[in-house]
Amino acid sequence: MYCQVIIDIVHENVASPFTYRIPEGMTLEPGQRVTVPFGKLKKEGIVLSLAEECGLEEKRVKDVIGPLEDYAAIPPELMYLAGKMAQEAHCPLAETLRLMLPAQMRGGRVRIKTVRTARLAVSTEEAAEAAGKEKRSRKRAELLGILSDGNVHSVTELAGKVKDPNEALKKLSADGLIVLTDEETLRTPGNAFAAPGDPGFALTPGQREALDEIIPCLKGKSGRFLLHGVTGSGKTEVFMAAVRNVLSLGRSAIILVPEIALTPQMVSWFRGRFGPVAAVIHSRLSPGERFDEWRRIRRGDARVVIGARSAVFSPARDLGLIVVDEEHESTYLSDRHPRYDAREVALSRCEQENATLILASATPSVLSFARARRGDYMLLEMPRRVQDRPLPEVEIVDMREELENGNRTVLSAALRRALKECSAHGEQAMLLMNRRGYNSFVSCRSCGYVVKCPNCDISMTYHIASEDGLLRCHYCGQTMYPPAACPECGGKYIRYFGAGTQKVEEEVRKLLPGVTIARMDYDTTSGKDGHGRILEEFRSGRARILIGTQMIAKGLDFPHVTLVGVIAADMTLNLPDYRSRERTFQLLTQVAGRAGRGEQPGKVIIQTYKPDDSVIRFASAQDYRSFFEDEFTRRRRGLYPPFTLIVRFLAESPKEEKAAEAADRIESDTRKLIGQHPEWERKLLLISNDTPSVKVLRGKNRRHVMMKMLVSREADEMIAAMTELARAEYEEAEVWFEVNPTTMI
Ligand code: ADP
Ligand code: ZN
Repeated sequence: MYCQVIIDIVHENVASPFTYRIPEGMTLEPGQRVTVPFGKLKKEGIVLSLAEECGLEEKRVKDVIGPLEDYAAIPPELMYLAGKMAQEAHCPLAETLRLMLPAQMRGGRVRIKTVRTARLAVSTEEAAEAAGKEKRSRKRAELLGILSDGNVHSVTELAGKVKDPNEALKKLSADGLIVLTDEETLRTPGNAFAAPGDPGFALTPGQREALDEIIPCLKGKSGRFLLHGVTGSGKTEVFMAAVRNVLSLGRSAIILVPEIALTPQMVSWFRGRFGPVAAVIHSRLSPGERFDEWRRIRRGDARVVIGARSAVFSPARDLGLIVVDEEHESTYLSDRHPRYDAREVALSRCEQENATLILASATPSVLSFARARRGDYMLLEMPRRVQDRPLPEVEIVDMREELENGNRTVLSAALRRALKECSAHGEQAMLLMNRRGYNSFVSCRSCGYVVKCPNCDISMTYHIASEDGLLRCHYCGQTMYPPAACPECGGKYIRYFGAGTQKVEEEVRKLLPGVTIARMDYDTTSGKDGHGRILEEFRSGRARILIGTQMIAKGLDFPHVTLVGVIAADMTLNLPDYRSRERTFQLLTQVAGRAGRGEQPGKVIIQTYKPDDSVIRFASAQDYRSFFEDEFTRRRRGLYPPFTLIVRFLAESPKEEKAAEAADRIESDTRKLIGQHPEWERKLLLISNDTPSVKVLRGKNRRHVMMKMLVSREADEMIAAMTELARAEYEEAEVWFEVNPTTMI
C-alpha cells in the first residue's frame, strides 16, 4: 500500500503531495498524522489518500516512519474543507490543513497526560478470598479490600487511604491479582465564571416562533437562518434551546462568539446548562488544556463547542448546528494568513455536513441581510424585548450647540444631568468613547505643527500623566515625551486637543466625586484576564460607571444599567472606508441596547456634531430596516460591495520609491493581464494607483493599487490571476493582496 502525504511545510516547492510506502503491518487512513523521511530530515505530514499502486519507481519511494496517533487527527469532513479552502484562496493545502489542528499538536509540543491506575485482574470473590488469606501484609489486604468494589482507582486516590501503597501494589500486580495501567487523563480548564443553572424561562412568542422554524431542521435537513432580534430580545435562549435539541439527537453544536474574553456570560450560561459536554476554547487555555479540549471534541465527549472564530474548525462529531452570534462583528474575518471568513466557513461546513446554520445579530451585516432578503437564509425576526421591556429612549445632543453655549468639555449638559440622576438613584451607567488616551493630538499654536509618530503618518496621542504622561502612537506603539517647545518653530505654546477615554474618566470624576469608575480600553485590559476583572467589577456593582471603547458595546447584559452615553458618535463615521456607515450604525445600536435590559427602563444620550445624519437617526430609533434600505441603495449607487468586489494590493517598503515601483509594476502587469482578456475588462469598473490615507506605517512607505469589479465569474478569474501577481517577488517591497479588505487605511 502507498499513501499521498502533505508535508507540514508551507513552501511553493512542497505544495503538492508526496508518495510514501506503507510498511507491512502498518495501517493508515486519510487525515492521519505521520512522520516521514523528507530529504535528510524527518517531517510531520498528513495522509491525504491511500492507493494500491504508486506509479513510481519502487526504489525512489520511501517508507512512512510511523503514525503520530492511532486515529485520523483530521476527520474526512475537515479534510474536504481544507481542500476547498485551499482551492478558493489559491494557497497551499498545508496551510489550510494547519487550521484544522490545535497549533500545539504540531511538532509534538504537548504530551498526553496520564495517571497510574489500579483495578482487579480477578473476580471480586477471588479478590475477597485473597484479601482474607493475605496475612503477611496488612497494606496489601487493605488495598485488595478497596479494589474489591470492582472499580478503577487512581494510585493517587489509593495513596490517600493507604500509606505508601506502591510496593504493595507492585507485589499484587506481580501475583496477577491486580492490573496497573497508565491511563490517559484530560486537563479540564478551570471555570472562571459562575455557572448558573437553567432559570426555566417561559419562552417569549418571538423565541417560540424562531424555534418552531429551527427545530424541525436539526434532524438533518440543513437549515440556514438569520436571526435578527433587537438587543435584549433573548437570542441566547434560542441558541440554548436549539443546542439542547441537537444534543438530544446525539449530534454536536458549535457556538461562535466574536471574542471569548468579552462573552463570559455566554460561556457561563452554556456551562451551567450543559455541564461537561460543553467545551470552551479560548486563547488563555494552556497548550495542554487546549489539546485536551480538542481531544474531548474529537472523541465526541464534548458536543458543544464555544469559541472564537477558529472554533469553526473544531472536529465536532456529527455536527448538527453552528451558531454565529453577533455575526456582524469584524472579528470573524481572520487577519492572518490564510485569511478566511468564519461565517463563510460555517456556511460551507453546514452544507457539507448537513447541519443547520444560525447567524444572529441585532444589527446584521449588510451582506447577510441582503442574502436573507434574496432567500439564501430564512429570516427570523424578534422585534420585541423579553417581557415586552421597552427599547431605550434616545436623546440626540447637538454638540455644536454645546459649543455655542460655552461648554467646551466632553460632557454635554444633558449627559451631566443624566449621570447625576442615574448616580443618585444608585443605578449604573456606561459611556462609550471610541478612542483611548487623554488628548488625541498635540499641536503648536503659532505654526500649526502636529506631533506625529516618527514611524507612522499618524498624530501621537497624549496619555495622562498619572499613567505615564507620554505621547503614544496607537498604530505602532512608539512613545515619546511631549515636547516643551515646538520642534518646528520653537514656539512655546504647545496645546493639547481632542479627547479620549482618560479625559472622559477625569471629567466624570470631577462631576461625581467619590463614585467608583471602571475604564475598559486597550490600556487597561492588556494584562492577563484584564477584561474579566473590569467586567466583574462592574457586574458586582462595585463600579457604578463603565467608560470604554467599542469593547463595551459587545453583547454584554448588565441589568442595572439605565443610562448609556455616547460621547462622540461621529468618530467612526468619518473613517475613509465604505463600511464606516454600517459600522457606526452597529456600534451605536449595540451600545444603546445595553441600557434598560433589567426591570428599570433605559435612557441613551448620543452626542454628535451631525445630528441630522441618517445613520445617527436610524440608530437612535433602533430602526434596522430603514438603515438597511438606505445603506443598500447607497452601496448600489456607489457600486460598493455586495454589488462589487474591491481588490487591493498594498505595497510597503522602507524606501518610498520602492513601494511606488512595486505598485507601478502591479498596475501595469494587471493592465496587461486584463488586456489579454476582453471579457474581464467589461467587469472591471475601476483601477487606481495612489497613496493610502496613511502614507507611512511602522516605518514603511505605502502605496496601493485598488480595483472595483462587478461580482461575476470573470471577477473570480481575475482575482485568481491576481493572487499569482501578489506572490511575485518585488524589490525591497512587500506586497499584500486582499479582496474586500477589512481596512482601507
Ligand atoms: P440578546 O442577545 O437578544 O440581546 P439576551 O439573550 O442577552 O438578549 O437576553 C436578554 C436577557 O433576557 C437575559 O438576561 C436573559 O436571561 C433574559 N431572557 C431571555 N429569555 C427570556 C425569557 N423567555 N423570559 C425571561 N427572561 C429572558
Ligand atoms: Zn507609529
